[in-house]
Amino acid sequence: MRFQDLVTVFERLEATTKRLEMFEILADLFRQTTPDEIAPIIYMSQGQLLPAFHGLELGMSEKLLTRALAQAAQRAPEDVLAHFKGTGDLGTTAEALLAGRKGKGLTVTQVYTELLRIARTSGEGSVEKKLCNLADLLALASPSEAKYIARFVLGRLRLGVGDATVLEALALAKLGSREFKPDLERAYNLCSDLGRVGEAASKGGREAIARITAQVGYPIRMALCERVPGPEEIIAKIGRCAVEPKLDGFRCQIHKDGERVEIFSRNLERTTPMFPDLVEAVKRQVRAREIIFEGEALAFDEGTGELLPFQTTIQRKRKHGVEDHAKEFPLKLFAFDLLYVDGEDWTPRPYRERRAELVARIAKDTVIEPAEMEETDDAARLRVIFESAIARGLEGIVAKRPDSPYAAGARNFNWIKLKRSYKGELSDTVDLCLVGYFRGGGKRARFGIGAVLAAAYDPVSDSFKTVSRIGTGFSDEEWVQLRERLDEIAVAHKPARVESKMEPDVWVQPMYVVTVAADEITRSPLHTCGADAEGIGYALRFPRVQGFLRADKRPEDANTVQDIIALYEQQRRVKLE
Ligand code: ATP
Repeated sequence: MRFQDLVTVFERLEATTKRLEMFEILADLFRQTTPDEIAPIIYMSQGQLLPAFHGLELGMSEKLLTRALAQAAQRAPEDVLAHFKGTGDLGTTAEALLAGRKGKGLTVTQVYTELLRIARTSGEGSVEKKLCNLADLLALASPSEAKYIARFVLGRLRLGVGDATVLEALALAKLGSREFKPDLERAYNLCSDLGRVGEAASKGGREAIARITAQVGYPIRMALCERVPGPEEIIAKIGRCAVEPKLDGFRCQIHKDGERVEIFSRNLERTTPMFPDLVEAVKRQVRAREIIFEGEALAFDEGTGELLPFQTTIQRKRKHGVEDHAKEFPLKLFAFDLLYVDGEDWTPRPYRERRAELVARIAKDTVIEPAEMEETDDAARLRVIFESAIARGLEGIVAKRPDSPYAAGARNFNWIKLKRSYKGELSDTVDLCLVGYFRGGGKRARFGIGAVLAAAYDPVSDSFKTVSRIGTGFSDEEWVQLRERLDEIAVAHKPARVESKMEPDVWVQPMYVVTVAADEITRSPLHTCGADAEGIGYALRFPRVQGFLRADKRPEDANTVQDIIALYEQQRRVKLE
């Protein structure tokens, strides 16, 4: 495929305000795509070169791109900068400065391979090499191709294409019907690589998709918890359960292949460099040639053996001095699940078996230990375990159905979390995705932002439905920072995957998630979340943001419309009691 044709598709994706149209454009695109091009096309339409877990970045700054552009357009860097000052978008600047060029008929494969080569250039003199190679590529491009290449290398190509829409479009284009989306989802949940799924579907249809299974090196999409109001409801829902403490640290999915160890975070990013001590401990303590298992890593006080709060644990998130920090604040990893061992996918096996095997595979030592666990079918006993967890400063408990498989990529009642609730407030916070902001008046007018529009995710329609306008919770500095971050992802019209009755002053691509506390959930005609036939949806009363943007959550990890409705129902039941 010519890159110019892909650019035309990108332009259409950028212009649409409807999710269905986005789906149709993608299905059409995939129909025209050869098996060798499909993975690069999927990655690029999501603004990536490879899935995030590869940890590969182009490492291209605005400054570097400006220089490459100057070289390609044979202009002085100052001219490029002056133009950029006017447009605020190096993509538009690239297009303008190369106006009139025909382009050399680049193919998608050529552009992709070249960008990959640039990203992989490292070592001495790599900056200059990257710059020259990018300049050469831009010199071969047409003006509109250059616009998208420029945005892509800066990480600003945000077409708002979600995973679920890609899977649905692939099902139709490559397997013949949207009905087969669950086949693709299963494969995606096990490998977290949409390109690999697209390629398999193109090359071998449903059979090839069925052959995709857990594999060391490919993170498995993580299982998540549902919530209920109390211990009685847990027992009513799942009966006998395995109760583990809910620890507040870093979720780690650990992959070991011989001496090679990789660690992936909750949102499937490669976090191995953060945990040199865990990598060593895995090599020392885990008895398996190949294994994938999960646990929660927390800082602890070596003197007292006490677990330390999340604020201490999170300091590990640094680029420099990790080794020193690891000595000062060692981590413990509480292992709680086993997903794969020596060639066998363990995710379909029952929790009880997985747990027993996990315990057997961990040699006793100081860093890794199995999470505490107790089975019970008694609500009173469950409450005691919960209270004791809270008394120890932990977040709460997770109750697991002993006979359940590991539900990759799913949030369901196989795992139920119970956290401390505060009287008179919602029993838990909710995570919502920002879709726009209001400029606001008063004291904050000088920041140019006074409130944000937040939405819940609807996995059925792969869209974001608004549930709250939030104007409290951020500090002054955070408002300023937030506006900068949101302006980077601002779009001219409502994004295709957003459903909203409110019209914020600035729309943004769904990208950032915030945690929100509120007094209660009410019915409201203002929001689209859970809207019934009369258009009455749900809204948060007295919402306030806690913390800042959640780096560990993707937009689709926001709480769902169903979660909001369930919380509303729970709150009603509690009120009635
Ligand atoms: P939260 O904001 O409450 O952490 P979340 O959406 O990130 O929510 P949940 O599904 O609510 O995730 O809770 C699961 C998280 O709890 C896991 O991602 C993991 O990091 C953490 N956790 C702590 N202890 C356990 C445990 N014993 N079993 C499973 N997950 C645990």
